[in-house]
Amino acid sequence: MSALKQALDDGRFVCVLEIIPQQSPARLAGLGRIVQRGHLAGWPLLPAFADRVGAHSDLSPLEGVGALGDPAASLLHFSGKDRERADLLRQMAAMKTRGLNQLLLLSGDRLPGHDPGGAAVRYLESVSALQIAREHGPDWLLGAALNPFKYREEEGGAQYLKARKKLLAGADFLTLQLGFDAAKHVEAQAWMRAQHGMKPMLACVMSLTDKRAAALRAVPGVVITDTMRELLAREQDVSQALAARRGIERLALQIVGLRLMGYAGAHVSGVHRLDELLLLEQALIAQRDRITSLAEWLEQWHASWRMPGAPQVGFTPDASAWELGRSDVTATRRERLRYALFSTMHRQFFSRRGWLSKAFGWSMTRPIWQAAVAAHALHAVERMVKRPLVGCDTCGSCRLQETLYVCPETCPKGLANGPCGGTRLNRCEFDDRECVHSVKYRIAKSADQLPVLEQVLIPCIEAADRYRSSWPAWFTQRREETRVRPSACGSPELPP
Ligand code: SF4
Repeated sequence: MSALKQALDDGRFVCVLEIIPQQSPARLAGLGRIVQRGHLAGWPLLPAFADRVGAHSDLSPLEGVGALGDPAASLLHFSGKDRERADLLRQMAAMKTRGLNQLLLLSGDRLPGHDPGGAAVRYLESVSALQIAREHGPDWLLGAALNPFKYREEEGGAQYLKARKKLLAGADFLTLQLGFDAAKHVEAQAWMRAQHGMKPMLACVMSLTDKRAAALRAVPGVVITDTMRELLAREQDVSQALAARRGIERLALQIVGLRLMGYAGAHVSGVHRLDELLLLEQALIAQRDRITSLAEWLEQWHASWRMPGAPQVGFTPDASAWELGRSDVTATRRERLRYALFSTMHRQFFSRRGWLSKAFGWSMTRPIWQAAVAAHALHAVERMVKRPLVGCDTCGSCRLQETLYVCPETCPKGLANGPCGGTRLNRCEFDDRECVHSVKYRIAKSADQLPVLEQVLIPCIEAADRYRSSWPAWFTQRREETRVRPSACGSPELPP
């Protein structure tokens, strides 16, 4: 059994070191020494190889793991950016031949150069990737991500609903996105404890300096507030050495806090050399022995963000920040009307009940639609009708009923199961729209359909199925049990 699986099973705190695979021999040598050491402050330390994190990552996770001698304990990332089922299966097959069976599945942030106005870029979303990986690796250790650093009900609620789907799809553990808001760490852990079939959680952490904070502000889903920036800049003004030392101390403190909160481990980024790791270890041992309760830790954590003359540091983007359990939002009148209209139309034409739906179904199951010319014409008709109404891109397998008539193709990444981690106060990572999953959350809440967003796993669209009409298949194929929970999709109408 792998060290990570063993530690998670035993409930032993574990550290995972994130490695962005690069060609640089100096970087590889430094990382090699850390990986060989294999522990941090007495806890197991395992390498995790990131995938497609940006222009600088010039090696794939498999090439990266190979460059470090194929450590068997490695956790490999798989990012769904511009990927399909076949890419995941290829990576799994290559991992298998090298004795690797630990995978962290992510939808991924915006692919560099992906412009929503240009050619479509498809993302294999994490829920579907988990389903595929679980099917092909029943005994693999599979992880997925959760970003709890959300400050509006819609985006935060949708994150947790999607996290529930990830557990249903087969995730053995969740890793939190990088964040510094202790209240959100506590909140996410409380959410997990309330889940039936609780799983271990790790949290991403990093030593923060002013330079890193400036770069992280551009990373979707990472929250660095103005007051955090100001404090880090003041530390930097005093001296680089002070800024670096305080960064390491806060990182150690955060890891100690995660352990006290009940996290199974820390996913550490930004440590590249053994001397950096040893400094972190020193700080960790000192803090770990000194702090014994969460209340004590919280006091120390806030104190570590204070400096004479600096404003008080806050970790939330504004004062009206949402917390899990707070329920304020409802769908707008327009959203309610739209849902009522589309669910009525859907019932009339696609319920397979009633004379209109039966007649439509009969016409759609005629053999004529298998002829290329007729299939092409039907595709054009479906696109012509549905594109202006819902933004349809004729994916060939209509998911509108399960997405409360908010078309997944209007998400720039085409995600159907829930949001990526990149929203900022409900705004899409691409900053050109409200996140479609925030809209969907409001509608589901007002229509009493939140269980649909939590329990209905929507499979990925296969590339070969795209750009054809979904109507004949709707009436000929039985949908999988996992996809539609009969009790959940009765779609009661919303009062307009
Ligand atoms: S619409 Fe939402 S899920 Fe889609 S890319 Fe934007 S933020 Fe991510």
